[in-house]
Amino acid sequence: MPKSLVIFSGGQDSTTCLFMALKRGDEVRTIGFSYGQRHGAELRCRQRILNAIRAQFPDLASRLGEDTLAELPAIGALAPSALTSSAPIEERPGSLPTSFVPGRNLAFICHAAAHAYGLGIHNLILGVGQADSSGYPDCTAPAMAAMQEAISLGIGTPFTIEAPLMSLSKAQTWELAEAVGGAALVRLILEETHTCYLGDRSARHDWGYGCGACPACRLRERGWREYLSRRGGSPL
Ligand code: ZN
Repeated sequence: MPKSLVIFSGGQDSTTCLFMALKRGDEVRTIGFSYGQRHGAELRCRQRILNAIRAQFPDLASRLGEDTLAELPAIGALAPSALTSSAPIEERPGSLPTSFVPGRNLAFICHAAAHAYGLGIHNLILGVGQADSSGYPDCTAPAMAAMQEAISLGIGTPFTIEAPLMSLSKAQTWELAEAVGGAALVRLILEETHTCYLGDRSARHDWGYGCGACPACRLRERGWREYLSRRGGSPL
């Protein structure tokens, strides 16, 4: 049985990747990182998502293995970002948004590979994408290809990095969730995953929880609206 380690944040994208890997038959382990982020909302969603998958999709539960939460506080201490401080979250035309955390995904991949090596796993899956992204350079296909080569050379074992959402828009990611897990998975993602940069879960919108105003919420809402309109606006 193929084995994969999913870098699982508790957001929509990594939850979709996790489900895809389980559905295709992988034996899956998950890893998440506490890196000094400005709120813990996403991390608090992780166990609820894992529990919900086990409860709602019992045929997949036997392949869903142990979860690991690793502490990487150095990223929060060293990387200047609005996601690791209380700085304003701003999109800046012509440059990267203040929500970019330099080195974050690179550090995640290195640490995930170290963990995977010990588990005898050589396939890493993560939910990065460049289609609808904020232009983060560590979410691109060239960055993933370079990291795959770097960890393979540096650890001395061939690794593969899968980024199944790389070319998908947010609307297509919702469509993918429906294709692999039906309405039940779409509802699980709506209810249990977290996207909002501010960690706001006080309001439940039709697209999920969030402040509704930050770039992450606006992207999630826009993708949801496009997804609904493509399916003729019909309810799930
Ligand atoms: Zn928000």
